[in-house]
Amino acid sequence: MDSRGAGELFQAQSHLYKLIFSFISTMSLKTAINLGIPDIIHSHGQPITLPKLVLALQIDPAKSGFLYRLMRFLVHSGLFLKTKVDKGGKEEEEEAYDLSPCSRLLVNGNAPNLTCFAQSVFHPALSDPWKLLGDWFYREEQNPFHCTYGIGFWEYGSQDPEYGKLYNEAMVSDSGMMNLVIRDCRSVFEGMQSMVDVGGGKGAVARIISEEFPNMKCTVLDLPHVIEDLQDTENLKFVAGDMFHHIPPADSILLKLVLHAYSDEDCVRILEKSREAISGKGKEGKVMIIDIVINEKEDKPELTDPKLYFDLLMMVAVTGREREEREWKKLFLEAGFSGYKITPIFGLRSLLEVYP
Ligand code: SAH
Repeated sequence: MDSRGAGELFQAQSHLYKLIFSFISTMSLKTAINLGIPDIIHSHGQPITLPKLVLALQIDPAKSGFLYRLMRFLVHSGLFLKTKVDKGGKEEEEEAYDLSPCSRLLVNGNAPNLTCFAQSVFHPALSDPWKLLGDWFYREEQNPFHCTYGIGFWEYGSQDPEYGKLYNEAMVSDSGMMNLVIRDCRSVFEGMQSMVDVGGGKGAVARIISEEFPNMKCTVLDLPHVIEDLQDTENLKFVAGDMFHHIPPADSILLKLVLHAYSDEDCVRILEKSREAISGKGKEGKVMIIDIVINEKEDKPELTDPKLYFDLLMMVAVTGREREEREWKKLFLEAGFSGYKITPIFGLRSLLEVYP
């Protein structure tokens, strides 16, 4: 083999090792969350040195070297930042760890906070079905989740209240990010007197919108076990129901992270019900979808990676998929809509406005 051939072989080997060991990123992140390292750095109020981190974690100083190595990896992966702090006196500066924008999203009490989201993904309820992905290709069940538990994801949420609660909180934590952008897209909601957030979970987004637009009547439609105990407000109402059967009439419908969890046939059914629900508003009504649009050609790989992770998650846990623009368009036309507009404003997710 010539040296170029050998070079390529070793490059392939590094790439393969990177793929083999990807789980180490996940497990290290999980460890940092479980140890509460983002909270410790946050409450320290400034970058924390290794000895102080050892002290805060109450671990044996003999383990410092191991913690150093975990932190070195987490700095490398972008979870934490490494900086220098003054040691005081004439001594040199000392290395210290700080929060990165990424780990700021894991500080409890901070808004937005994605800790719950991470925990819901790491939970065995959602991680065990991955073990049956290969088997599932030879089996009849709808998805690996079904193979594992014999029931679908939403039903599981009603039967395992501990996981159901964690999952719903995870979705609330994801929606917390919306706060930051609602003000930037006021025009999307302006002129609408009513909106139903279909599959709106605990109402995190509808609550933000109802507060921002006090004259808009907002309704959250979700499964009974999800919305029980939630209090209506002046302009926010919780309705238990099934979106496949009936969606209350309104000027606009919001579907955030709902359609990606369903097959094309189910999506067309939900979209048809949504079209019926806005029919009273004539051509003025609209359906607003917040979901992923896969765009491998234009997106940077850093954005395509998580989009494709979500796609596989939808395959393993539910019957859904992440879609490219042409796949979305097909659904809209099949459900009888005449046009749509896509605005990529929520990082991974886009806003898709669909018109009757
Ligand atoms: N829109 C929320 C939640 C998305 S998760 C958010 O972005 O945070 C999908 C939601 O659809 C869950 O809350 C789930 O309980 C709800 N759901 C599932 N099947 C449903 C059905 N048949 N009718 C109404 N809601 C449903």
